[in-house]
Amino acid sequence: MERIVIINFGAQYNQLIARRVREAGVYSELLPPDASIEAIRGDGLSGVILSGGPDSCYQPGARTCSPEIFELGVPVLGICYGMQLMCQLLGGTVGPAPVREYGRTFVRFGENRLFSGMEDSICWMSHNDAVLKAPEGFRVIAETDDCPVAAVCCEERGLYAVQFHPEVRHTEYCAEFFRNFVREICKCTGSWSVDGIADELIAAVRAQVGNGRVVAGLSGGVDSSVAATLVHRAIGDRLTCIFVDHGLLRLGEAEEVMDYYRNEIGLNVIEVDAKERFLTKLAGVSEPEAKRKIIGTEFIRVFEAEAKKIGADFLLQGTIYPDVIESGTGGAQVIKSHHNVGGLPKNIAFKGLVEPLRILFKDEVRMLGESLGMPAPLVWRQPFPGPGLAIRVIGDITEEKLDILRKSDLILREEIKKAGLDRSVWQYFTVFTGLRSVGVMGDCRTYDYTIAVRAVTSTDAMTVEFAELPYDLLRRISNRIIAETPHVNRVVFDITDKPPGTIEWE
Ligand code: GLN
Repeated sequence: MERIVIINFGAQYNQLIARRVREAGVYSELLPPDASIEAIRGDGLSGVILSGGPDSCYQPGARTCSPEIFELGVPVLGICYGMQLMCQLLGGTVGPAPVREYGRTFVRFGENRLFSGMEDSICWMSHNDAVLKAPEGFRVIAETDDCPVAAVCCEERGLYAVQFHPEVRHTEYCAEFFRNFVREICKCTGSWSVDGIADELIAAVRAQVGNGRVVAGLSGGVDSSVAATLVHRAIGDRLTCIFVDHGLLRLGEAEEVMDYYRNEIGLNVIEVDAKERFLTKLAGVSEPEAKRKIIGTEFIRVFEAEAKKIGADFLLQGTIYPDVIESGTGGAQVIKSHHNVGGLPKNIAFKGLVEPLRILFKDEVRMLGESLGMPAPLVWRQPFPGPGLAIRVIGDITEEKLDILRKSDLILREEIKKAGLDRSVWQYFTVFTGLRSVGVMGDCRTYDYTIAVRAVTSTDAMTVEFAELPYDLLRRISNRIIAETPHVNRVVFDITDKPPGTIEWE
């Protein structure tokens, strides 16, 4: 297998680099700066990328890497901090930039293989430091008005470095840049794809589990559903899934996902009705963190009790690559036992964790789901928080409020779908604000609740923008919610981005 390793110096955009390499058809993974040369070399190393990062490489304590990386016989690309570090390690000089550059910047390119086919154009910059003098044997191959050394290379040794960020879409030749590096410079064939690895992942699960039994928590979300489908392909009915209905799901949700799980995918699912248990514990609680904690704890208790009855050897988790990167393991092979995404049990004895999606990004998980033939509505479900509707009812939770929320949410979902926006809007839901205001309906005074509509666009949920829903759609949504949901007389639209807001209200 062809593989490109990214040494992660803590850049904001490090995951994007991995994405771009994969889009160019080569498997890529992030490793921490102190990874051993053997770990970097691994199997089939085709190239190394040194990422950006917040440090200044000339300051004491700045992250660094072994200069042996430049002797591995594969091309190395430095990006931003990675460029500065490469130049410093190889004898150049780095210091504070006379003029710092942030954001869109016009770059003029010189002749070389990395920039082949590109014209002088806009690139994305974000740096305080700069290479003041390139190392011996390197030539300068790009400049901007304020940065005379915006890229360097030593083509004989396969070393390239750029001060700008080719991985962000604002850089005009983003895709060409990675294509050139991966195909022309690293000489990869670029045949890696998500579809192509399903069989490998299935084989790996079989090898890990042997004749053992696996238990999984299903949430209705994309990750756990795809993980369970994959493991089911691998070991059939030796996988038992547990679906906990905490009474905080959307209207028709439990029925819908159970139908997919049981009838379309053929999973063996135990449905646990824990509605009463959760709602009793939550009665009178209005503080958001307290709600989340109660739900998290109860979830674990219910799951634990069921899992014990089944007595499985392995626990399946829908961990995906961003979770792995964020937990600091940076792609290391050892599965840390404390790494339990979704707050699943720590204290049940399992032989091990099965995490078949841990090398994939969210949209790759979706592609895998499609290639496994899963129903599209399950694969393309919008993200839904674990605590469910509890954090969309501001204040304490009652059946009446949940009912109002469910009805208004269903109307919103129907209208978004009718408008054909259900794939382009990342997440959309209603919030029971708890606010009451005066209105007039049928000539009568009302004093009723306010529902907020939240709709956002995003690619990764790290940053979001409120979705610019057309006014006529908003009007239809508002009219229907007020007409069809008892005790609602006002609808407002949330126009907050993240940051400063979060997607959910609690
Ligand atoms: N910290 C370095 C600088 O400010 C590198 C920044 C980066 O990698 N984005 O120049």
